[in-house]
Amino acid sequence: MPLLSMNPLKKAKFLTSCASIEQLVGDIGHEVAFVGRSNCGKSSLINALTEQGKLARISKTPGRTQLINFFELDETRRLVDLPGYGFAKVHESIRRNWESLIEGYFTKRDSLRGIVLINDIRHPLKDTDVQMLDWAQHYNVPVLLVLNKSDKYSNSQKSKQLNWVKSQLTQPDTHIELASALKREGLDAINRQICDWLDIGLH
Ligand code: GDP
Repeated sequence: MPLLSMNPLKKAKFLTSCASIEQLVGDIGHEVAFVGRSNCGKSSLINALTEQGKLARISKTPGRTQLINFFELDETRRLVDLPGYGFAKVHESIRRNWESLIEGYFTKRDSLRGIVLINDIRHPLKDTDVQMLDWAQHYNVPVLLVLNKSDKYSNSQKSKQLNWVKSQLTQPDTHIELASALKREGLDAINRQICDWLDIGLH
């Protein structure tokens, strides 16, 4: 599916990286955050949505410094790449640092309008994903759940998995989209939701 002819997310520019809550950029305007387990395709999806091959880095090392990366669309609209989670081998202190960073971000961020939670379609709704959904509900932030890597599944597998995910969700207003960052499928619907949250009119 082609992206919108005029894609507002294309304007995204790297703004800054923060290693702690104290360093977060000014909390004004609108912000949409991307979260997901390591290897779910979060960087690939950000790059596909913004049509920029290298905006979010694709190759990373488990246990690296955990950073919140900000990308700016204009002075009052941002995309936020939250550090991935779920490395099997990370030290307990790294996990705790991740938790306090993410929960600190959720607690503090008035400009946060929505969360794009990315799952690998083959491994959806693991513990930390469910924790993210619970936090989002607790802080009253809407979630778009993206089942990425849909190219790995046949149509019947996709609809079976989609139905299973729907049956597991306790938050009935969670939107779900199937996508493939690799094949650039399902991106329009995600783009529209993000633009809606960021209060960008599409013509
Ligand atoms: P991140 O750790 O969540 O940022 O994930 P990356 O974007 O680095 O992607 C992890 C791996 O999954 C890479 O090898 C990507 O090429 C691959 N990948 C990402 N999105 C897709 C997708 O939609 N389909 C397939 N088949 N592979 C993907």
